[in-house]
Amino acid sequence: MLSNLYMDYNATTPCDKEVVDAMLPYFYEDFGNPSSSHHPYGWLAKSAVEDATTSIAKALGVSEHSLIYTSGATESINMVLKGVLRKMRHLGSHMITTKAAHKAVLDTCAYLKDDGLEVTYLGVDSKGLVSLDDLQKALRPDTILVSLLYANNETGVIQPLAEIAELVHANGSLLFSDTTQALGKVDLNDVLQQADYACFSGHKIYGPKGIGLLYCRNNDGYDALPSFIQGGGQQKGQRGGTINTPLIVGMAKAIALVNEGLEQESKRLLRLQAQLEKGLLDIELAMSNSTSEQRLPNTVNISFPYVDGASLLSALGAKLAVSNGSACNSASVEPSHVLLAMGVERSLAYASLRFSLGRYTTSEDVEKAITLVANEVLKQREHNILWERRPTS
Ligand code: PLP
Repeated sequence: MLSNLYMDYNATTPCDKEVVDAMLPYFYEDFGNPSSSHHPYGWLAKSAVEDATTSIAKALGVSEHSLIYTSGATESINMVLKGVLRKMRHLGSHMITTKAAHKAVLDTCAYLKDDGLEVTYLGVDSKGLVSLDDLQKALRPDTILVSLLYANNETGVIQPLAEIAELVHANGSLLFSDTTQALGKVDLNDVLQQADYACFSGHKIYGPKGIGLLYCRNNDGYDALPSFIQGGGQQKGQRGGTINTPLIVGMAKAIALVNEGLEQESKRLLRLQAQLEKGLLDIELAMSNSTSEQRLPNTVNISFPYVDGASLLSALGAKLAVSNGSACNSASVEPSHVLLAMGVERSLAYASLRFSLGRYTTSEDVEKAITLVANEVLKQREHNILWERRPTS
């Protein structure tokens, strides 16, 4: 185990020991294929998957038929966007999302351009919220899908889904909401009655990597998505391939655990979030990029003017695991597209850090993190001539 502080729970979480314990038998003695219908190995695996599905459906307050297992939220997003376009093309090929959407949505939209998808990218305000007015204006008779990130992974901002769903459905369009970051942090029961599609990921909730869910509210009817991966007919033909029993069992256990302690854990996280935010905002000129009232209880996003975010991140890296939410590639490091969409100045977007707290974060950890960041920001500014020359009132 690494000794540095981990505050990057929105990137991924460690697997809970109870989750690993629940999965283990399905790697060893109960290794059967759930589709093997002629012997007890298959029966056992099938029944484990059925029990897991029942448990997940109960925890989420949805029907078992509405759940499709995928490899993660990215695949679920691909399945919705590609599936709705394929299925609803006769009604139109226009979709709406926002400039602050997750890359999995933005990249899939870009890919589908060649297939005739037309996308309207709505802006967001300085809190990261979409305007209902803008949404209303963007809706067209040929709008087949609106895709809105419920809780943003970089800022934690939560969109007003009830109002959004009303507008979208009044237009006869379908609503997909990416709920990946919200599961286990806020109650989702209402949201899952408002959205037609939603997605989840095991590794964001102390479950295993490589497993996710697509929720399709009306999977027996109008909203059912066409086959995404062909072969084998598994999952009612919607996603072929041998069903991954251990990961599904792990996902079910992880969901049960986050659900069990949801209220208490949210309150605990809120206290830590407030402590962290206060401490970081005490650093001179620091400002928060997460100011919406409705937001996740674990996410803090702060800009530190006169500091280079990449240098800050790498200087902190050995002691504190945080993120800058930026998309890195070999040629360049881009500032967060989410912060840019919110109107944060480019230089400030570069100088921003995202802290995401989780199950194993303590108040002492938060204090240590504040001290580490404050010292490092100070150190970086000492070497920045612009800091010396900053305007003072
Ligand atoms: N959607 C959101 C909001 C996320 O935060 C992530 C993870 O970064 C994803 C989708 C993709 O999840 P996965 O890693 O399961 O593909």
